[in-house]
Amino acid sequence: MGKSDENAIKQIDAMIDSIEEIIYSDNKKALKDAYCAYELSKKANYPQGEAILLLKIGFIYTNISQYKKGIEYIIQSLSMLELYNLNYYISTAFIMLGNAFFEYAYYENAFDYYNKSLFISKKYKYSDRISIAYNNIGEIYKMLNDYDNAKLYYERGIENDPVKECKGIAHLNLAEINYYKGNYEDALELLPVAFRLLSRHRYEIHFCEVYKLYALIYWKLKDYEKAVYYFKEAIDVAEEKSVYFNKINILIHYHEFLVDINECQKAADILLDAYTLARANNIYEKTMQICYCLSSLYEKLGDNESVMKYYRLYVQHEQKQKKERINQITDGIELRIRTEEIKLQAEIDSLTGIPNRRKFFDYLEKQWEHSKKHSQSLSLIMLDIDYFKEFNDNYGHPEGDKCIKKIVDILNNLIGSNYLFSRYGGDEFIAVMPQTTAEEAYKCAEKMRKAIIDAGIEHQYSESCGFVTITLGLASIIPSDDCCMDDLIKKADKALYEAKRKGRNIVVVCS
Ligand code: GH3
Ligand code: MG
Repeated sequence: MGKSDENAIKQIDAMIDSIEEIIYSDNKKALKDAYCAYELSKKANYPQGEAILLLKIGFIYTNISQYKKGIEYIIQSLSMLELYNLNYYISTAFIMLGNAFFEYAYYENAFDYYNKSLFISKKYKYSDRISIAYNNIGEIYKMLNDYDNAKLYYERGIENDPVKECKGIAHLNLAEINYYKGNYEDALELLPVAFRLLSRHRYEIHFCEVYKLYALIYWKLKDYEKAVYYFKEAIDVAEEKSVYFNKINILIHYHEFLVDINECQKAADILLDAYTLARANNIYEKTMQICYCLSSLYEKLGDNESVMKYYRLYVQHEQKQKKERINQITDGIELRIRTEEIKLQAEIDSLTGIPNRRKFFDYLEKQWEHSKKHSQSLSLIMLDIDYFKEFNDNYGHPEGDKCIKKIVDILNNLIGSNYLFSRYGGDEFIAVMPQTTAEEAYKCAEKMRKAIIDAGIEHQYSESCGFVTITLGLASIIPSDDCCMDDLIKKADKALYEAKRKGRNIVVVCS
């Protein structure tokens, strides 16, 4: 790496840090800087930077409710992050995918991704990610009105958050659950803590939620003066931070409060504000709810014309909301398809389309346990193309690729679906053969060796013959407690090494 590259990378890392600092307070600038740093990473040949910035861009888009766009970036980044083992960011990407599924109300998929994030974060001790994953699982339970489990997970989130990375959100959520359960004293104790943490992290957009909760609690405690004060504070903050969805909700609560204290006309005015805002932002779920409330409120006020008007609007919005829900479901399905694809990509070798090393280990582990349980023999054939370096050097790398693909096609067909044939790496391949003895595996290995010679792929630079050949090493075992999976792999590897040493284009069985 040249000096200029090193400097560029330092500069990009610094940019990533400064983006992180403003990611909640100045979306627009964060997005612009992230795109800029992304381009720089490409120029500086810094793929790790590229991967992290794609993730940041995705995060910013999802933060401003542009889920579809955000998800594209997150998925693109995820495959790069996996390539470079950037586990902290992988864990973050899983949380974001969980959030996207959550948004589409696919709670099971959201739960899966939060759990995946938890798994990685526990393994590498990323306490901040652990706490966020717990907190977000709590959110799922809250959506399902299971407040006990929600509480449990929020509490886990707080316990696992020594650096207070949840930025007060978990405390706020816990306070909310306590409010639902009628534990107002507990909620009132948690709110100042949440407020302090939110302030410390400049997470100001959530102040309105703190104020809203204060208002709701004081309403329940019949301290109406304080309730009014906090409702107004909440509305002001929501307005200032342009969080319309929150503002609509606060206004709806405020109207309920005003109805409760018999200020129906004022309540209607507040609802009309909420209605304008919900319409302007096409939030049909809310316009419906508001029309319904308005209709029944005008009934109380004896204004029949308005009752009819809002009833008709309710029906109109209901139709729009149904269409919207269908779009949402389609988006959710699309997201599921895209994430299934990444799962597949992670197990498939891109050049040959056969399973990769990761899938091989996964499969062998399962077969090992199964064979052990049933005392059946399990065989491995490890094989390597002979003089393949010379092939590349003389015919060129693209021809080399074609040669690998052809060999894989032949062997994959020959081996059939009872065994797993995968790319172990480079020009090395491995077949896992459950319920197969050494003799049976040997017969198969010989067929494989012959099939490749018979294919007649020219290789004038091979020392074994004028065609491409392969060398195979074989090992077989009945798994038990006395041996482990690695021993079997080592044996096959040793047999292959032995076969290469003996002159190539042969099969050697490990003694
Ligand atoms: P040996 O008979 O001892 O196996 O000799 P070899 O030349 O095959 O040596 P070795 O297995 O160490 O070299 C493997 C070569 O395979 C080196 C590498 O350039 C090439 N190779 C690995 N992956 C690919 C690939 O995806 N495409 C191409 N074209 N070549 C690859
Ligand atoms: Mg080789």
